[in-house]
Amino acid sequence: MDKQKYDLIIIGGGPIGLCCAIEASKAGLHYLVLEKGVLVNSLYRFPTNMTFFSTSKLLEIGDIPFISHSEKPTRRESLEYFRRVKESWDLQIRLFEEVQEMEPVEDQSYRIQTNNRTYYSQSVVIATGFYDTPRKLNIPGEELPKVKHFYDEAHPYIGQELLVVGAANSACDVALETYHKGAKVTMAIRQDKISPRVKYWIRPNIENRIKEGSIKAHFNTTITAIHPDRVDLLTPQGPQTIANDFVLAMTGYQPNFQLLRQLGIQLADDGHLTPIHNPETLETNLPNVYIAGVVNAGLQTSKLFIENSRVHAEMILKAIGAKASVP
Ligand code: FAD
Repeated sequence: MDKQKYDLIIIGGGPIGLCCAIEASKAGLHYLVLEKGVLVNSLYRFPTNMTFFSTSKLLEIGDIPFISHSEKPTRRESLEYFRRVKESWDLQIRLFEEVQEMEPVEDQSYRIQTNNRTYYSQSVVIATGFYDTPRKLNIPGEELPKVKHFYDEAHPYIGQELLVVGAANSACDVALETYHKGAKVTMAIRQDKISPRVKYWIRPNIENRIKEGSIKAHFNTTITAIHPDRVDLLTPQGPQTIANDFVLAMTGYQPNFQLLRQLGIQLADDGHLTPIHNPETLETNLPNVYIAGVVNAGLQTSKLFIENSRVHAEMILKAIGAKASVP
């Protein structure tokens, strides 16, 4: 058991958790980052051949230059970049430590329980992202091993009957990459068109593949059941069953609301389950507990990115500093 009390514990070793660690280090605080997986775990689990939509410049933290071969870095380059950030700042991180519970103790400080230790801290930052919890289809057959909510690479799908569910950036990326590697791709799209949020350089590519019929798209369609060798769709023409080897459910992700509630964070009744926080200090309903990074926007997962949530670290450390200076 770690009986030492920290000034600040940061839950989540993603880019924004690391930003908070850098600011804590600058402020001379005794801090620690607890990360349930590997360093920048979400980025590590992104598709193997992914290229970021942000430029390297906009992903930079802690004044460390991000040099990449092209203007927009690859996943692999980002892993190397954040490894160098950790090393350069000598960031204090414990990996494979999953925070499971937190409770207030004396002096408005907190006891934090992970899978293998107990910590005590005066302040806490929650920077747990949203890439842990896929939005489920909630249909029969979703538990079959051929159904994937995370995509890694195209190789396993060569020559396979593949159904991609969704029409946002990830779904379009996955449909194109697997099609180019020889998968027989069909898309099931709930709306009547490709999502308007799809990046401008991807849109013409996917729309032209659909127009020419090389990728088949069922618009205004939902998937109703998954069987080992086929899927059932509800199309505007009525129910249809098509042959299928794999389903890639690219239907997005959401913050782990169960964890947030367990930690004691109240969620707003605003349709987005936004964790309640002061917009200037990012302090939540719990005194000395702050919320940073993309988790901050609840279900609005396309509102915050690295570039516009890097600033959270400074806001939080300023608030912590202001409290400390009050006698
Ligand atoms: P995350 O990076 O998700 O970090 C949260 C961390 O918390 C994770 O490492 C997780 O393992 C850890 N964690 C969760 N629960 C616990 C727990 N209980 N205990 C301990 N640790 C825990 N953004 C951009 O700015 N540019 C892009 O180009 C871009 N491309 C994207 C492409 C894809 C396919 C996806 C899905 C997202 C993309 N994003 C992009 C969004 C991107 O995920 C976020 O901007 C970025 O990861 C946010 O950083 P974060 O630190 O807030 O959250």
